[in-house]
Amino acid sequence: MRKTVAFSRRSANVFFHILTRCNLHCRHCYINPEQHGSRTLDIDTIEKWLALFAERHEQANVIFLGGEPTMHPELARAVRSARSLAYGSVTIDTNGYLFHDILDRVTPQEVDFFSFSLDGPDPSVNDPLRGPGSFDACTRGIAAAKARGFAVSLIYTVSQANIDHLSAMPPLLESLGIDRFFIQVIGVRGQWTEDSRQRETLAQVDRDTWLEVIPKVAEESARRGMIATFPKVFLDPGEPFECAGLVADNYFIFPNGRVYRCPLCEDYPLHGLEIRDNRLVDAPRINETDLFPLTIPEGCVMNRIIQPRNLPPALGGELTYKIACCMLKEEISP
Ligand code: SF4
Ligand code: SF4
Repeated sequence: MRKTVAFSRRSANVFFHILTRCNLHCRHCYINPEQHGSRTLDIDTIEKWLALFAERHEQANVIFLGGEPTMHPELARAVRSARSLAYGSVTIDTNGYLFHDILDRVTPQEVDFFSFSLDGPDPSVNDPLRGPGSFDACTRGIAAAKARGFAVSLIYTVSQANIDHLSAMPPLLESLGIDRFFIQVIGVRGQWTEDSRQRETLAQVDRDTWLEVIPKVAEESARRGMIATFPKVFLDPGEPFECAGLVADNYFIFPNGRVYRCPLCEDYPLHGLEIRDNRLVDAPRINETDLFPLTIPEGCVMNRIIQPRNLPPALGGELTYKIACCMLKEEISP
């Protein structure tokens, strides 16, 4: 069954980068220490910041991110704190190296999902993007998580460098026992975007290719028993456009205290909120909250500013499509 996942107006999603340090150097990494800091939050701070969002929202989900969050020695305690603060679900995003024996220090009752990142169906595709040995480490980590009874999801970040290999993923994921498959579009953000050659080789795929390839792979994944999710990216001219910054509660928290509502803004000091002295306060204007209400015929205003290649060509003034909010997803269930 295929459906568009409406923005949730009832529960908040807290994407919590507890550190920016990582053992890998993926070519398309979106972490930008100049904008996000390079601090590892101590556990007291993590617990205070978790409490801020639990107080603000009756229903909230937390996703622990980095850097590589399992490099944080107190991640297990952070998970338990989130549970005791009544977060509805707890997810750990990981590159698969699973430091500090994290699988032995948390339980499947405490962690709803371990979410692994793999960008190719074999080392020849994945490792040039994510680093030597990363395919083997990630698939070993998935097997270890499955063996301990954890639910496991997988994120594949699509760019021109790996779109041709996406169709080989469903059989691999089925053999690994993956429960959910998230196909992601590469974000044009992070320090790599300053290199013009990288920008060419890691560019986003065009609309025709996206529509030709992605839904078919998602359908095949669902046929093999996984829930498959992918960003909608393109809207038909008549479809309604909504900006999640106005209608949903997503928070992207970084160790320097910046809190963004829109991930496309993360390369700029445009965060709408910030945490100062462990209090959540509005950030100085002008910021992303000034951009969200701006309506343009092409859809998402941040695409016009930072990803203009995505915008539809103006053919005699008629729009052939619009750009959806980057957080609008399609989901196909088995
Ligand atoms: S694993 Fe994640 S944080 Fe680490 S380098 Fe890769 S994209 Fe960046
Ligand atoms: S991606 Fe575009 S539509 Fe979505 S929150 Fe950001 S500015 Fe709004």
